[in-house]
Amino acid sequence: MHSPVGEYLQQILSECAADDGAVADYIPELAAADPDHLAVALCTPDGTLYSAGDAERRFTIQSISKPFAYALALRDHGIDAVLEKVGVEPSGDAFNEISLEERTGRPENPMINIGAITTHTLVGPADLDEDARTARVIEGLGAFAGRELAVDEDVFASEMSEVWRNLALASLVRANGIISGSPEEAVRGYTRQCAALVDVRDLAVMGMTLARGGTNPLTGEQVVPEEVARQVLSVMTSCGMYDAAGDWLSAVGIPAKSGVAGGILGALPGQVGAGTFSPRLDRFGNSVRGVRVFERLSRDMNLHLMRIPEPSLEVIGRRERTLRGRRLVVLQGAMDFASAEMALRHFERIDPSEGDVVVDIGMVSTLNDVGRRMLHEGLARLAADGHRVIVVDPHGRLGDLGGGRVPYIARVVPDREGM
Ligand code: GLU
Repeated sequence: MHSPVGEYLQQILSECAADDGAVADYIPELAAADPDHLAVALCTPDGTLYSAGDAERRFTIQSISKPFAYALALRDHGIDAVLEKVGVEPSGDAFNEISLEERTGRPENPMINIGAITTHTLVGPADLDEDARTARVIEGLGAFAGRELAVDEDVFASEMSEVWRNLALASLVRANGIISGSPEEAVRGYTRQCAALVDVRDLAVMGMTLARGGTNPLTGEQVVPEEVARQVLSVMTSCGMYDAAGDWLSAVGIPAKSGVAGGILGALPGQVGAGTFSPRLDRFGNSVRGVRVFERLSRDMNLHLMRIPEPSLEVIGRRERTLRGRRLVVLQGAMDFASAEMALRHFERIDPSEGDVVVDIGMVSTLNDVGRRMLHEGLARLAADGHRVIVVDPHGRLGDLGGGRVPYIARVVPDREGM
């Protein structure tokens, strides 16, 4: 059998082919881009890649580098230290506006240029020189993509020839004491970062790395800690799509970042990393066909942050109520806060006069940290009520049972006759 996912992507591309909008022209080299390219790629949590269209076509990452440079700064200095320099509020202004908080002089967020130039300078130790810092950023982008990235020297030189506005922004944050080094160096480094070359498959892997909590699905490298990935995804959700962030959140609902070369990267936690490429932009600066492709993916596959998950109403299995005179509780499905609460309510109804209680979690499909903590507590309380608690945990999902507070029988698939 051949997986239909690739054909589905092909079909979306043919249905989203109509192209309006215009290529970015404020960087001369970008104005020369072929506007007809169109590509999409998806990456799954286990690192499987699907793509369609001009998936090998490389383009400059531009603003899509911003969340990743932000992630590297957070990794290197911690969330609090970076927050002192750059905020997390949507600015409602264009990407190259002077969006500074009145009271603090901090850039409003890391997704607009003034914030991104600041963030670039926060990658690595404060005393790094310009070349070493830029190399560290580009190497870090490569760790997210799972391969070493090159820089498009022509696009870099072209943007540097028209860099006055970014230079003005960098000078302002220097004047406010937000960055400490030279504004020229900050802008040069940031502009090189924007000129890193990627294709849609790189974007999909980079997105999946964030969507998996910082671990690259291809290389297995933990590029940034999980709390950093969460912080970056949050800021992408509120500020990622230039001035169209609100429309995007309701219509598409995938944390995303777009760039003026025509790329869009999306990262839906736990589900998918996605990349699209098509150079013509709408009035907000987002790729026209890229937006359409994302709208389709979100609608067809219910890939939306605010999708209402199916509640697990059948947490307690019906299989057996007793096992050789012992109370048997079979838990099943995904164990998160809501389902663990249901399991605890079930435990609550077990009378202290009942003797042994067997809790079988072999049918639990996933157990998140909250579910695990709640189950540990429930089992400990059953034990405290005087029950001998026997836990059947064939996949070892519960881990160490609360430092031995719960009497516990081996994690093996139970031999019913032998018990
Ligand atoms: N290098 C571009 C700039 O700073 C990136 C802009 C973008 O992609 O939004 O102007």
